[in-house]
Amino acid sequence: MIPVFGSQVVGILNVDNQQRGTENRKTKTKMRFTVLASGSGGNASLVQLAGFGVLIDVGLGPRQIGSRLAQVGLSWSAVQAVLLTHTHGDHWKEATLLHLHRYKIPFWCHASHHTVLRTYSDGFLALHAAGLVRSFEANTKFELAPHLHCRALPLRHDGGATFGFRLEGRGDLFGQGSALGYVADLGCWDEELATQLADVDILAVEFNHDVAMQQASGRTPQLIQRVLGEEGHLSNVQAAALVRAVLQRSTAGRLRHLVQLHLSRECNRPALARAAAQLLLEELGISIGLHTAEQNATSAMLHLNAAAPPVRARRSPKRQTRNDRPIQPMLPGFADQSELRP
Ligand SMILES: [Zn+2]
Ligand SMILES: [Zn+2]
Repeated sequence: MIPVFGSQVVGILNVDNQQRGTENRKTKTKMRFTVLASGSGGNASLVQLAGFGVLIDVGLGPRQIGSRLAQVGLSWSAVQAVLLTHTHGDHWKEATLLHLHRYKIPFWCHASHHTVLRTYSDGFLALHAAGLVRSFEANTKFELAPHLHCRALPLRHDGGATFGFRLEGRGDLFGQGSALGYVADLGCWDEELATQLADVDILAVEFNHDVAMQQASGRTPQLIQRVLGEEGHLSNVQAAALVRAVLQRSTAGRLRHLVQLHLSRECNRPALARAAAQLLLEELGISIGLHTAEQNATSAMLHLNAAAPPVRARRSPKRQTRNDRPIQPMLPGFADQSELRP
């Protein structure tokens, strides 16, 4: 039995740890998602569709990723590609890039990540020399596999160019394709981002900190301001507001699971993050699975093995200030230190 870490049923929940390896043909066309680790100690999540697996970030070493995959009955053989969000040190590890090269696993990142990775990673140079580096562009759909598309969503964060992702499976005879939205490491959000995340089945969002805990943390004023700033991390309240905006732009009943990512160890508590989300869901009268990812354990595997009910869309987006300031480039050699501590 695989433990269900930090997960709780809020109404209709569709988590099934007993089904791995026994899905029928229908479920094989549906997406699966699990968070292997989330937080400033290292980040990695797995998205699977029809036998094709993508890791979002590789912020753990290769053996640790292997053991986290084993917690949900998988291994590195389930990984066919890697997507990088940004170059902060909790989102990639040199040993893992070397591992990707050794096993010929393509590594997708943005062209602006190349400069940092060329400087600090022999693994990246080896991947590049082997033709295994693939580049994505912001706001442009690209193909990870013939049946799996992705769009990189630019985020405001002080880690150089930073992206969230919208992954979408091609629809099949059984209906619409599954979709996942993933955004972590962002200091603020805007209407465009909420629109790009609308109508997904799984929404994974950073609930980084509680503002009062952050302010009372005893950290330096500079660090507190960085975390709270527009290029830092989302508070529980900011994250809940983003989820609300996404739901307001989505077809009612489409979203099945909300996954809370990148919780601060020092300045948040799972109960606080969950309360912020539960308050919103209760207020909106929405029943979905609520899952809080952990740093030290693999979360439950989410299976999208049932069609979402067709219900009319609601469109009453809340006005949110849009901020188009460019993201600051990351200082060379600042990767590990610049990651905001939990
Ligand atoms: Zn991070
Ligand atoms: Zn970061």
